[in-house]
Amino acid sequence: MSARILVVDDVSANVKLLEARLSAEYFDVMTASNGTEALAISRRAECDIILLDVMMPDMDGFEVCRRLKTDPATHHIPVVMVTALDSPADRNRGLEAGADDFLTKPVSDVVLIARVRSLTRLKMMTDELRMRAITSLEIGMQAPERSAVADTGKGGRILLVDDRESSYERLATILAAEHTVDVEPNPTEALFHAAEGNYDLLIVSLDLNNFDGLRLCSQARSLERTRHVPILAIADPENSTRLLRGLEIGVNDYLLRPIDKTELLARARTQIRRRRYTDHLRDNVQNSIEMAITDALTGLHNRRYMESHLATLAEQASLRGKPLALMILDIDYFKSINDNYGHDAGDDVLREFAVRVRKSIRGIDLACRYGGEEFVIVMPETDLHVAGMVAERLRRSIAGEPFAIHKGTKRIEVTISIGLTTLERKGEAVAEVLKRADTALYRAKHDGRNRVVSQAA
Ligand code: GH3
Ligand code: MG
Ligand code: MG
Repeated sequence: MSARILVVDDVSANVKLLEARLSAEYFDVMTASNGTEALAISRRAECDIILLDVMMPDMDGFEVCRRLKTDPATHHIPVVMVTALDSPADRNRGLEAGADDFLTKPVSDVVLIARVRSLTRLKMMTDELRMRAITSLEIGMQAPERSAVADTGKGGRILLVDDRESSYERLATILAAEHTVDVEPNPTEALFHAAEGNYDLLIVSLDLNNFDGLRLCSQARSLERTRHVPILAIADPENSTRLLRGLEIGVNDYLLRPIDKTELLARARTQIRRRRYTDHLRDNVQNSIEMAITDALTGLHNRRYMESHLATLAEQASLRGKPLALMILDIDYFKSINDNYGHDAGDDVLREFAVRVRKSIRGIDLACRYGGEEFVIVMPETDLHVAGMVAERLRRSIAGEPFAIHKGTKRIEVTISIGLTTLERKGEAVAEVLKRADTALYRAKHDGRNRVVSQAA
């Protein structure tokens, strides 16, 4: 997987060094020699990951990072600070600015490439979601970017998997200052616990007794329920090579013991913030899919969905030699309900109508709102006779029980007319079927309403 890496450093020898190493691994490398330039490149969305020098004249790396992370256009780009000074205070300043990680000069090749690869995967996943969520912006849903920038990363739900009491007690106490923490000392229970708990972050010790913490991490990655939960690994320094392996299998971040309190909190916040952002994106994608096929007032499918799906149902029916019934339902004198009781009362009737329709049909039947007070129901494997009984039952369920309006303070009589037909001939165009049902509906109206008219093909 390749990615575009932006290397930012005011010393050109440093830029060249990182550029050579990354290019050797087939990454696309872009360079900038100061913060202003780096911000401009990032805003044009030309890079996937930023390696950012801390010590630069004019604007230092901390400030560049802070600006990247508070701008909705760039906050999602992973930033790795590259620093000569490696004190906890320094690291924490960067983490507070929103940096995703740190590399200390001289930068180790193995660590650099492992880090960049793991962040590349993360960035690709986020980009994919962002792309699909774009349509939800177009239909006016709130931009996840705005809430992501405002998110403190606090108040998360964390599962800590660690079997050393002295260790987990200390870590849990630190984390509890900002989050809700559950401890799981038994690694064989941990996966189950993680899948059940709806956590924002898993923190896994890699120094477990008789248990391979990395195996747990990889299982969490492959399990549907935990796939998207970030993992922060914790290891003793002598286990640090295993951390690199961890990054390869999907661990998002790590810390070496002894664990610095501020750094633990900062890294947990970063992961939780990212988790919430991608969750938000995922929800948006899901919502926009639903909105595209659902009628908002009644919750039934919309016309667009019906039209694209009806052809498929007709094809299947022809292919299998099964009947397919289709009815158009239209509320009688609906305009006068609006005129007499108001538009809201009309909406109440439409909603309740949809509820009764859903109760009367099977799971495989397709019900949609075709227009204002006009509905279509498609019933696979149903002949005209059976469909006629269903239609009659439906008609009675509407006419037989008055509809509540004005918050239940008033009840009114409602009736519907139904035109019914079936697809009989192989390969008949669905437009023909709809037209025939519409003609039948017209007759039902003409003959006095509150009735079903069937029209054989
Ligand atoms: P008919 O018995 O011949 O079907 O008469 P009708 O009054 O039901 O038919 P008409 O097509 O004249 O009127 C339908 C009305 O439905 C007109 C329109 O304002 C109203 N309508 C359409 N969509 C909605 C909606 O979402 N909510 C409400 N309250 N009314 C709607
Ligand atoms: Mg009507
Ligand atoms: Mg009408």
